[in-house]
Amino acid sequence: MSVVDRQEWDVVVVGAGGAGLRAAIEARERGARTAVICKSLFGKAHTVMAEGGIAAAMGNVNSGDNWQVHFRDTMRGGKFLNQWRMAELHAQEAPQRVWELETWGALFDRTKDGRISQRNFGGHEYPRLAHVGDRTGLELIRTLQQKIVALQQEDFRETGDYESRLKVFQECTVTRVLKDGEKASGVFGYERETGRFFVLEAPAVVIATGGIGKSFKVTSNSWEYTGDGHALALLAGAPLLNMEFVQFHPTGMVWPPSVKGILVTESVRGDGGVLRNSEGKRFMFDYVPDVFKEKYAQSEDEADRWYDDPDHNRRPPELLPRDEVARAINAEVKAGRGSPHGGVFLDVSTRMPAEVIKRRLPSMYHQFKELADVDITAEPMEVGPTCHYVMGGIAVDSDSAAARGVPGLFAAGEVAGGMHGSNRLGGNSLSDLLVFGRRAGWHAAEYASGTGAGRPRVDDAQVDTAAAEALRPFSAEGGEQADGPPENPYTLHQELQQTMNDLVGIIRREHEMEQALQKLAELRARARRAGVEGHRQFNPGWHLALDLRNMLLVSECVARAALERTESRGGHTREDHATMDRAWRNVNLLCALTDPTGGLAATDAVRGQITLTRETTEPVRPDLLALFEKDELVKYLAEEELYE
Ligand code: FAD
Repeated sequence: MSVVDRQEWDVVVVGAGGAGLRAAIEARERGARTAVICKSLFGKAHTVMAEGGIAAAMGNVNSGDNWQVHFRDTMRGGKFLNQWRMAELHAQEAPQRVWELETWGALFDRTKDGRISQRNFGGHEYPRLAHVGDRTGLELIRTLQQKIVALQQEDFRETGDYESRLKVFQECTVTRVLKDGEKASGVFGYERETGRFFVLEAPAVVIATGGIGKSFKVTSNSWEYTGDGHALALLAGAPLLNMEFVQFHPTGMVWPPSVKGILVTESVRGDGGVLRNSEGKRFMFDYVPDVFKEKYAQSEDEADRWYDDPDHNRRPPELLPRDEVARAINAEVKAGRGSPHGGVFLDVSTRMPAEVIKRRLPSMYHQFKELADVDITAEPMEVGPTCHYVMGGIAVDSDSAAARGVPGLFAAGEVAGGMHGSNRLGGNSLSDLLVFGRRAGWHAAEYASGTGAGRPRVDDAQVDTAAAEALRPFSAEGGEQADGPPENPYTLHQELQQTMNDLVGIIRREHEMEQALQKLAELRARARRAGVEGHRQFNPGWHLALDLRNMLLVSECVARAALERTESRGGHTREDHATMDRAWRNVNLLCALTDPTGGLAATDAVRGQITLTRETTEPVRPDLLALFEKDELVKYLAEEELYE
């Protein structure tokens, strides 16, 4: 039996990005002893990379904005597949969460009259994104971290111990959620630096691990995004919702190859940047779909007037939702009108004075100067689609963020499904993290205090199994696994990324996804033999070998769901089913992991089967439907929904 350090907490939060930190603050403020675990250094979560801003209908720049308009935009962006109650709570509560951040010390950019400034973004009817230059995520995390430190100081004054009620375990990776019967009972993980194992026992576990982008070759996501939380939930017996919906951001860098995929923020377009093809044509006017025709400008003149007079002009088509822009760029490149390195041109240099570009987009200026030797104040950028965000995720209850099927398990942030439907609007993630992070922390604390003396117990046998699973890569040639030579985890990862990029990428075809599923099955078998050398002290090969389990499970969910959904909607585009089909509007796809004998939650992840079920969505509440014109609803709703 391996040596495993054990501690007891009330709430364990896995992930210290915006969602995890907000959940931890809430749980601690509601009296729960709370532990936060993160893979990277504290403060270095993916949220730090968020550039554009936080969407919240505060109406600071256009008083026409309110939660109802934000709700409408979010549902339109998600093509009405959003879990509507989440979209409602999100639109209603986002402004309070931004103001709250300000009271905790966040310094937002200001309007001339001193209010929090808000900028335009794709799919948002009004300027809505509260921002700090193009470094909003950094300020968000800095503020939440500062709040955590303030709470720890408060605890020190009372108990003499900074970490008595709120403790951060950094550079630690969780590999399993532990269970007592059906209920969550804690987590198992390892310290990345020492390789030592630990168990945190707790009746409530909040998963806030972010996204899955590292399964794709071209991505804006950082090394942390290996779909761990999605896989942890699957392995614990909780289903994943609508995993086919992966967002390809239209503008990632395409050159040089070493930085391909790095994000070029949408603020560039929100602030006036335009997209052109190799012929110099502003091509987005050719790609406005019927459902959006009335809301977008038909000429360059009108589009340009909108920046100064949004009340009397329609928005530029560069600000269509991301899925539309990404597909348009893809089509231009395919038609041979791309830029020299396989993207299109994004130009701010002819649209704004150099000093304004440097002030409003400082990170973009430095990013291009340092990584591509391009001066964006003097020449256009070359950009193309990059895997950016996953709309699919752990199926949760809208109000409490409780994961379906596993009492005591909660999920918030990018890892949770439902909120964004088939496509997320830019800026709606940072607000989602705050709104549902808080809700997850609140309900986790309540759940934990409700367990009283009946706290779930950690089963030693599960701990031993988790330890054996984690150690498997060190003995890849031994025993049962000796059905082939040991495999290099880096090679497997590269093959996985190539497969997902080529066969389950931005435009999908039935035969390619079938091919992908065959390849994923082969990779899963080979991953069983992923072997590493050396020892457990900071060993990145070992870490990757463990992450592979998660990436492979999650990739299979994406591919299976994408094959099943025979329509194009939001982030899911099928060449062989090119249009949105109203019959699919109210269909959710749920992925679960079953063991080979049919039981739920395989103990052996590599042998478990991903199964897919369909479920009808809950009808949208009539007062929320009444916020839309009937003509618009006809474009989205299923026949029977319209009839009702
Ligand atoms: P994260 O911030 O990624 O945090 C995940 C945490 O989980 C990390 O602490 C990680 O270490 C930890 N973790 C993961 N796996 C494990 C494990 N197994 N064990 C322990 N810990 C684990 N959205 C907007 O709304 N506005 C924007 O302007 C914007 N800009 C963006 C720019 C870029 C370049 C990118 C990539 C994304 C952007 N997004 C933006 C999206 C947004 O940043 C993310 O969706 C959001 O930050 C996710 O936050 P999170 O709290 O869910 O996860």
